[in-house]
Amino acid sequence: MPTFTETPDREDHVRGLPLLRTPASGKIQACITSPFVLGCYTHYWGGRTVPCEKPDCEACNASMPYRWHGYLSAILKKSHEHVILEFTAQACDAFDDYVKHHGQLRGCAIECYRRPSSHNGRVIVQTQPADLGQVTLPDPPNIPSLLCKMWNVPMPEVSDFHREGEVSRKHLVKKDEENGSNASGFNPADTGLQHTR
Ligand SMILES: [Zn+2]
Repeated sequence: MPTFTETPDREDHVRGLPLLRTPASGKIQACITSPFVLGCYTHYWGGRTVPCEKPDCEACNASMPYRWHGYLSAILKKSHEHVILEFTAQACDAFDDYVKHHGQLRGCAIECYRRPSSHNGRVIVQTQPADLGQVTLPDPPNIPSLLCKMWNVPMPEVSDFHREGEVSRKHLVKKDEENGSNASGFNPADTGLQHTR
């Protein structure tokens, strides 16, 4: 006899969410479901983005540059698909400003696009409180867990997470702008994942 339920047993459905970056042309319109941006240092290594795993990091040992990326979850406006969005540190400034005024990002409607429209175009993020009406946002996914699965690396210990203040992303952004995108001179030795609240 079947057991009918309104939703699948979530414990049995650990599914990956698509990871999206701001496209070269066009825009992403979405409503954020996660409360804050969560990010970590990454390398472009072996043809893909991988997390920096200091102190024992193959890419660092090969002198590969690293940069910080922020991640948040959101529902796409048109398809209602739940996705993870990846942003550079510079683009995350818009989220910092929103959190200053609204306390958190959940329920924030965003439009992001590049200006000029190219892969190297600066990412522009526009934010405003979403008009949710009757819509109930889904719970945010466990972003570190999904990222670690995607990268095929173990989850860091909770003690490896850092609150803002211990690591200054602002410093990094400034350095990134001076030096191109990488090699900020910031020591990523104790990075791991950081809340940017
Ligand atoms: Zn590294």
